[in-house]
Amino acid sequence: MSEQQHRTEHNWKASGFETRAIHAGYEPDPMTGAVIPPIYATSTYKQDGVGGLRGGYEYSRSGNPTRTALEGALAALEEGERGFAFASGLAAEDTVIRSVCRPGGHVVIPDDAYGGTYRLFDKVAKVWGVEHSPAAVSDVDAVRAAIRPGQTSVVWVETPTNPLLNIGEIEALAGDAHEAGALLVVDNTFASPYLQQPLTLGADIVVHSTTKYVGGHSDVVGGAVVVRDLELADAITFHQNALGAVPGPFDAFLTHRGLKTLGVRMDRHCDNAERVVEFLTGHPAVSQVIYPGLQEHPGHAVAARQMKRFGGMVSFRVTGGEAHALAVCENAEVFTLGESLGGVESLIEHPGRMTHASVAGTDLEVPADLIRLSVGIESADDLIADLDRALG
Ligand SMILES: *Cc1c(COP(=O)(O)O)cnc(C)c1O
Repeated sequence: MSEQQHRTEHNWKASGFETRAIHAGYEPDPMTGAVIPPIYATSTYKQDGVGGLRGGYEYSRSGNPTRTALEGALAALEEGERGFAFASGLAAEDTVIRSVCRPGGHVVIPDDAYGGTYRLFDKVAKVWGVEHSPAAVSDVDAVRAAIRPGQTSVVWVETPTNPLLNIGEIEALAGDAHEAGALLVVDNTFASPYLQQPLTLGADIVVHSTTKYVGGHSDVVGGAVVVRDLELADAITFHQNALGAVPGPFDAFLTHRGLKTLGVRMDRHCDNAERVVEFLTGHPAVSQVIYPGLQEHPGHAVAARQMKRFGGMVSFRVTGGEAHALAVCENAEVFTLGESLGGVESLIEHPGRMTHASVAGTDLEVPADLIRLSVGIESADDLIADLDRALG
């Protein structure tokens, strides 16, 4: 890093979330003043004499300035010390697993984990000798009971979970993990750092699919890891480079561009989700609405403590069984039928047949009459009219 960058670098730690989202991780380029990190489409860097690296850059798997800017912003928003960007959420997860799990070890995972996360533990990590036990993240006692002191290296949680939106109490889970000598990993994809910062509640590692809210525009696949502990940061740094599942500079640029508006987008996602929940709650063809913001949601009190708001994901069950659920998904027009979540456009899907098809027949199976919504940032009235039509 040049002298000049050092002198002008501002410490954003004390700044508000939206200020950090826009400024942390990057100082205008000293040479040109470029306000936005350039897309450094380069695989290698000229050395000023052997080993004379400029700013530490040697080869773009190890580091690329476009990615560095994104990684700095991610760390600042999660209130961590170090951020790491990956080619996908699952690449981030795989890198974490290989950094902190060893053959003969054991991991506790959510009993309603994201399907790809479950598959990674059940079909990949297990082959390499890492066992897993599913437990309900909303039940601290069940998670504690699933921990095997001396063998469990990681308690892995999502909160809210996907697609049932169960809530895990991060502070309590961190306490139990640490007591057994394990790390708490939180997949913060559904909440995003705007609504929840797990590291401030005792979690050791945060992972993200930045494909979702962080990127926010359904135009890029990516992942992230953020940690506070510097030894852990060294282990992730080593494995990020050794495994090489890094995003290219174009992907890093897009993700960073999305990240800047995370706060305003999330507030609108939450506003719209609240309107949709209110509509669905009164609808005769809806048997249950699942949203952590509802008083009757079993995780409401915990969510209210650890989240700023309750997010843009809404799940609901219909009275007409699977056929009706499939018809609603197919009849929606403003809500696009598709997997994924967290983009500006509203999405609707049938978890049993789509995102969670891989857990059919296992303990993680989801109800057949369940529909999941990723409520976007369109005009709320249009979203409600669309659901009304699709349900009818
Ligand atoms: C999408 C998702 C992942 C996987 O991320 P990819 O970017 O698709 O690899 C992991 N966890 C959650 C909660 C997700 O929604």
